[in-house]
Amino acid sequence: MLINESSYHKDKVYAKRRELFESDGKESKGWYASSLGTCPRKQVLKRLNKKPTNPPTDEGIGKMALGKKIEKFHLQELKDAGFKVEDMKDGNQIRVTLGSASGRLDALIDGYPYEIKSQQSRAFWYKKKNDKDPIARAHRFQIAFYMIGLAKDRGTITYISKDDSTIMELDVTLTEEDKAELNERLAFLDNVMETQELPQGKPDEEWECSSKWCPYYSLCKIMGFGRVPFEKIEDYEEELTKVKEKNVRD
Ligand code: SF4
Repeated sequence: MLINESSYHKDKVYAKRRELFESDGKESKGWYASSLGTCPRKQVLKRLNKKPTNPPTDEGIGKMALGKKIEKFHLQELKDAGFKVEDMKDGNQIRVTLGSASGRLDALIDGYPYEIKSQQSRAFWYKKKNDKDPIARAHRFQIAFYMIGLAKDRGTITYISKDDSTIMELDVTLTEEDKAELNERLAFLDNVMETQELPQGKPDEEWECSSKWCPYYSLCKIMGFGRVPFEKIEDYEEELTKVKEKNVRD
């Protein structure tokens, strides 16, 4: 038997997956609920529809695609278990808007927001073992957004693992601090659009700032991490293109 590694099917599948996560090329009119807790500078660059300088790898795209499948699988499990689930699949797109931001909630169960996130099972035990906050910061902002937008006093975030479908379910109730923090973040982002100046590159969580996790890492590095007027961004983009071309030539 002769065996050759092939990419005949794989390339088409990868290209199809990529389509799922590509931008539609339009400047967005508002903020995304799912990103509110992430680096503000990244959100602004995305809103301005800047081309990612560090696009996700096939591995990263694969993880996202798998995550979406797992979320659908879990919604079906909930229905099979007898819960009254309203989700997008039933034609009820649950779009929530609050000020200049909006987002699509995964589901309402018995009328309360229910958000599903997939991760590796080792992340469960790592957080438990190290006494870490079980809810990631971006997810905290996101569920708070849906609860405030829908005027609900409680909601649920469920983490489900991609490797063994273990479930960690977390009931969430809002505090006044949560509301204040969310409003403050929205006001900050709106102000950036008014002043037309990129904020400092300073994410709440340091890990975000890397070529692996941030699609704008190379651009940010060349701009420096201080404030940058919107009108200057294009100059930096050109500078980065020239640097990349020179590196290829050398
Ligand atoms: S590189 Fe860092 S500061 Fe710049 S947008 Fe990304 S996360 Fe934010």
